[in-house]
Amino acid sequence: MTSPARRQYLDIKARHQDALLAYNIGDFYEFFDEDAHIVARELQIVLTARSYGSDETVPLAGVPTHALETYLARLVARGYKVAVCDQVSPPGKGLVQREVTRILTPGTVVEPNMVPVRRDNYLVALEFGTRGGAGLAVIEASTGAFSCVEWEASRLPAALRAEVERLAPAEILLAERAHAHPEQLPEGNDWLTGWTLTPCGDTWFEEGSARRRLCRHFGAATLAAYGCERLPLAIAAAGAILAYLERMNPTLLPLLTDLKTYDTAGFVEIDGRTWRALEVIEPAHGAAGFPSSTGRGGQHAPATLLATLDATQTAMGARLLRRTLLQPLRDRIALEERLDAVAELHGRTAMRQHLASALDGLGDMERLIARIVHGSAVPREVFGLESALARVPVVAGALRNATAPALVRLRDDLDACPRARELIVRALAEPGTGTGRLIRAGYNAELDMLAQTAAEARQWIALLEADERERTGIKSLKVGFNKVFGYYIEVTTPNLSRVPLEYQRRQTISTGERFVTPELKAHEAQVLHASEQIEALERSLYGKVLRSLADSATPMRRTAAALAQIDVWLALAEVARARNYVRPALSDDACLEIIGGLHPVVELAMDGGEFIANDTRLCAADGGERQEHDHGDAPAIMLLTGPNMAGKSTYLRQVALITLLAQIGSFVPASQARIGLVDRIFTRVGAEDDLARGLSTFMLEMVETAYILRHASARSLVILDEVGRGTSTADGLSIARAVVEYLHDRVGARTLFATHYHELADLESTLPHVGVYRMAVAERDDGAIFLHRVVVGASTDSYGVQVARMAGLPASVTERASALLQQHAHAQRRVAEVPAAYVSQSLANEANEEAAQRERDLALDLASANIAAMTPIEAINVLFALQQRALALLRAASEGG
Ligand code: ATP
Repeated sequence: MTSPARRQYLDIKARHQDALLAYNIGDFYEFFDEDAHIVARELQIVLTARSYGSDETVPLAGVPTHALETYLARLVARGYKVAVCDQVSPPGKGLVQREVTRILTPGTVVEPNMVPVRRDNYLVALEFGTRGGAGLAVIEASTGAFSCVEWEASRLPAALRAEVERLAPAEILLAERAHAHPEQLPEGNDWLTGWTLTPCGDTWFEEGSARRRLCRHFGAATLAAYGCERLPLAIAAAGAILAYLERMNPTLLPLLTDLKTYDTAGFVEIDGRTWRALEVIEPAHGAAGFPSSTGRGGQHAPATLLATLDATQTAMGARLLRRTLLQPLRDRIALEERLDAVAELHGRTAMRQHLASALDGLGDMERLIARIVHGSAVPREVFGLESALARVPVVAGALRNATAPALVRLRDDLDACPRARELIVRALAEPGTGTGRLIRAGYNAELDMLAQTAAEARQWIALLEADERERTGIKSLKVGFNKVFGYYIEVTTPNLSRVPLEYQRRQTISTGERFVTPELKAHEAQVLHASEQIEALERSLYGKVLRSLADSATPMRRTAAALAQIDVWLALAEVARARNYVRPALSDDACLEIIGGLHPVVELAMDGGEFIANDTRLCAADGGERQEHDHGDAPAIMLLTGPNMAGKSTYLRQVALITLLAQIGSFVPASQARIGLVDRIFTRVGAEDDLARGLSTFMLEMVETAYILRHASARSLVILDEVGRGTSTADGLSIARAVVEYLHDRVGARTLFATHYHELADLESTLPHVGVYRMAVAERDDGAIFLHRVVVGASTDSYGVQVARMAGLPASVTERASALLQQHAHAQRRVAEVPAAYVSQSLANEANEEAAQRERDLALDLASANIAAMTPIEAINVLFALQQRALALLRAASEGG
């Protein structure tokens, strides 16, 4: 039979089945049953067992109370939810009462040791409409940022998927019906499986109740002011987030003071694969790093665009830079405004220096404010906010002469909140001064009186020892304190005869006796009572101080946002100065001109090695019709041929990264750049597979290529590195050719297409908007040298064997490969020499559908001629007719070129 203790556990666990239950018993938090197995595995702790009565033993894994937070952080970081169950009644006879006092989930944690410092930690809710649309709501619990967005069916699933990949949420809430029936979601939900999904009750997503919940929360009659009044799916998702917080951590609700509705159409759409391929946030393969000169990511920051740019000085600046990078803009006016701000900082060294010293070491105001509003800020954090606010006038002073409108606006947003600062300094005792007090003396008369009473009583006790020694003549008399008896007077055995009558014996010890006196007890009571009152009063006053600071949350948040933005633009200006980046000229045409472009990350990683700059000129073909532009004959599609290891991939990515930088409002690594703004960036690079989704390397390559062909527009930038490599040469070549033709004729997007199929070079003669380029190679007796320079014209050699030699393949293998290569080339030459005329004509005919048809007809007639049934003269006539047709075909071919 189940024991009462076990039943208590099972009852509580039944209410928290979706979480691991950390159950307080004595000095440990224990996990039982399946939870114990999970926790033992995840935390690498010992799995043991606990017996309940004689007939029940259950698996157990426990962590000591003092280490709970560390273990919780590790479980949450791995995507688990944990419910912490504490004892809520004092220990005594029978069962202690227990309750779940907090629930931690990856998207709702705010504890400073559990949220990443330089990255946002998002909780997302998704709702799907019956007519194909979708809504998304997102919060960042540690700052209280809350926003939502909705898409029509026509923009799905691409926009939704890209947005989820951008946010990279710690946790995603889905209605149970959506979770249970992924087939009803746009393109299923297998793309969601990599995220931590939390299925929630369908009713939370019901529009009517979600709308009511939001209105109640914001104290509003409608949601019109929040921009989502007519967006039922966004409302459903936002309402579900509120419902989830109400259940998981209602203390976070006051943080959500606003809801912003946004539209992803204003951002450059970039899918997760492209982010990874361009190594914007994460390195593609492991964490290869390079020494970081301005970044704060330590000696070896990962080789990513973010690390390259991250010269921010504050955590909130670092988070904003990351958000900025992940949300490139399409709007030229907004970008010019950003660029004006960066340009002004770039040009004004003194301003930069002032700002840098004002921002250096500035605290994480955004999160500090949130912790104050949340009521969980400790005095050290409140003083952190105070010292951050103290910097605000210095920052404003540094921007005194700023003229860029965006900088002027930021300066106007800065508010040092003097009343809040004054309150902090006046009310709170500075931590670390050893007084053990929360509230400063002089702030509250009642508290001061209590403190004085306690101090006087303590003083009386402190003097008691000397007084009593003198009064009794016992030199060894001592006054001490212990937890059981409180204050006492200790007299050693030889002196017991001299103890005054009013001494009351309390304890016998080996060396003597301990006594109290009514007076000592009275003073002790005063001390204890006053201390209790002081503690309660201090707690209440501290809470009041936090609440009145929270009243200034709006201007403080605005100030924090302005400081973060200044930090980001300052970082972009510093990086631009340090690495000689230039301001890009932005345009609304679909052209791209980069002179002397560099790959920002590879260049930095080469750390002193010489990175070769290259130019790029591209102009969208716009569905075959050339756009109005002044770029002469710039191609829409740049076919880049060249050997392995020559720098093709680097060049392709460099063009995409320069475009991306321009579209976040940054200077770019080039000597000159004119960027026609793009609506989307697509990349298809590398030989990955996705076996988890059942996709082989080649299949994945085709899926991605198909996606690009279906979604790219004439305003997009398309990067294709080696399409058609994963299959046979004939198939691959045909697919690559057809893809280029499609992009040329139907899409018109600016495209960079790197390929080893040198045969594709002839596309330049048939497709007007294709330009063929190659990576230059200098041939020398001892081998080839890759110059990393992009030049006009096709490459004729892949230098694959040479690269294999560089890679360290055994000499016997590379020698044999060289010999085979020569044999192959020889055979090719012979084939080419004999039927050269025919082959070239036949190729030309391929371009001419009519001629090809006539050729096929000729072959068909020849094959079907029934020679056996003909008389000789009939045979000669048929032969003559066929010969005439063949001659006509050959003549047409030679005239055509
Ligand atoms: P593969 O066809 O084998 O993928 P690739 O032509 O794409 O090769 P990359 O991977 O781009 O070549 O570059 C190979 C190496 O050449 C890089 O690791 C880099 O160190 C160097 N490199 C590339 N571009 C340049 C450049 N512009 N200047 C100097 N070095 C460069």
